[in-house]
Amino acid sequence: MIPVIALVGRPNVGKSTLFNQMTRSRDALVADYPGLTRDRKYGDGKVGEHEFIVIDTGGISGDEVGIDEKMARQSLLAIEEADAVLFLVDGRHGLNPADEMIADHLRRSNKPIYLVVNKTDGINEDIALADFYSMGLGDLHPIAASHGKGVHVLVDKVLLPFAERIQEARDQIDIESKGIRIGVVGRPNVGKSTLVNRMLGEDRVVVFDMPGTTRDSVYIPYTRYDKEYTLIDTAGVRRRKHIKEAVEKFSIVKTLKAIQDANVVIVVIDAQEDLVEQDLHMIGYVLDAGRGVVIAINKWDGMTKDDREHIKKEVERRLGFIPYAKVHYISALHGTAVGDLYDTIEDTYESCYAKWSTNRLTRILEDAVAEHQPPMVKGRRIKLRYAHQGGSNPPRIVVHGNQTGSLPGSYKKFLENKFRQVLHIMGTPISFEFKSSD
Ligand code: GDP
Ligand code: GDP
Repeated sequence: MIPVIALVGRPNVGKSTLFNQMTRSRDALVADYPGLTRDRKYGDGKVGEHEFIVIDTGGISGDEVGIDEKMARQSLLAIEEADAVLFLVDGRHGLNPADEMIADHLRRSNKPIYLVVNKTDGINEDIALADFYSMGLGDLHPIAASHGKGVHVLVDKVLLPFAERIQEARDQIDIESKGIRIGVVGRPNVGKSTLVNRMLGEDRVVVFDMPGTTRDSVYIPYTRYDKEYTLIDTAGVRRRKHIKEAVEKFSIVKTLKAIQDANVVIVVIDAQEDLVEQDLHMIGYVLDAGRGVVIAINKWDGMTKDDREHIKKEVERRLGFIPYAKVHYISALHGTAVGDLYDTIEDTYESCYAKWSTNRLTRILEDAVAEHQPPMVKGRRIKLRYAHQGGSNPPRIVVHGNQTGSLPGSYKKFLENKFRQVLHIMGTPISFEFKSSD
């Protein structure tokens, strides 16, 4: 349901700069297709109230051969997955033959295309635009990505046609899905489809007849021990005929959409392959999107003791930044420990959506302060008076007091741990906001 915007243009027109303006992700997801000379980045777009997925397609110059051709083809695939394309050109350099070639590609794509003239800061806009009318791509959209100028207006224009669709899709998902929506994501071949099949094949599971198939992913509602869930199947389990297709069918956009649609996301990692950057990026993306995360280290069967030790160390080392995420070691193939995922899914969901009273939060704050006072600053002790919930998914706790701006990081960490422990918050970061009356 979330719209996807692709950024296209020859190298150096300012795509990365615009990408950074449009995203607030800590981690852009990077496609690690072999042979790419430049990364294609996927980010969680946020401009004003709009949320969307943005893809920086890397450079297309229009006359690629060899590796560049492969890259261009990947970019074109990304364009296929996009709902709208921002075609960037350089307002300082004027029309370039490569722009014309890209325009040809784009015209064939049948997507809404916005011709965006970048770098219009400090130059005469009319003159900068004049060159590009001849491309016949309709209105021109002047921006200065490095200054953020024109970006908000542009995104408003691009997303306006989707507003209704997004609402309809949201309603639709609410109708078609039941209970907690569980996303299963991971790199190709980590065992997503095997896991989805295993989860649906459990004794206690009753799958409803009609999965929703109107969107990119398939929604499979089911019950387990009389509790309702909906699996979001990105792997295409229910549609796929040949296992071999999986690798080609793997799509980061599909993955990101599933994450957006899910309440809790199982990130599947292949124990027999070590953790790679993309696994970590995917986890980062889930957290950026404010979704709960559960880690499943799959293919735990058939591993030697040494290999197991090695992976456990790797997990400790590389997933140390999310100590609150529960890690399950499973075998989707044999079903080992798959059922255990549910307790974590439930707890994680609770953590993401729970509501706590101001009383309760303030009491936890008071207990924390009694246990360990905040430090003195300039002869006065930092005071923390009360706490209330500022939001959920991820949970946000607002702490009020005096001189909170001087609160050391270590103390904030201490508070976070306290709240986490008392409220049993798992699978999600907690965001804190400190407000000061002086
Ligand atoms: P990409 O190769 O298309 O991703 O382009 P980049 O985002 O890396 O930008 C290429 C160069 O153009 C960098 O030096 C940017 O600082 C510069 N640039 C990007 N946007 C603007 C802009 O709005 N105004 C100006 N003056 N320079 C910009
Ligand atoms: P997907 O691309 O992530 O959906 O991965 P698949 O579910 O298609 O699995 C890829 C390959 O890994 C298949 O050959 C599976 O049989 C195998 N596989 C999946 N789960 C396990 C597991 O728990 N143990 C082992 N040994 N193999 C597995």
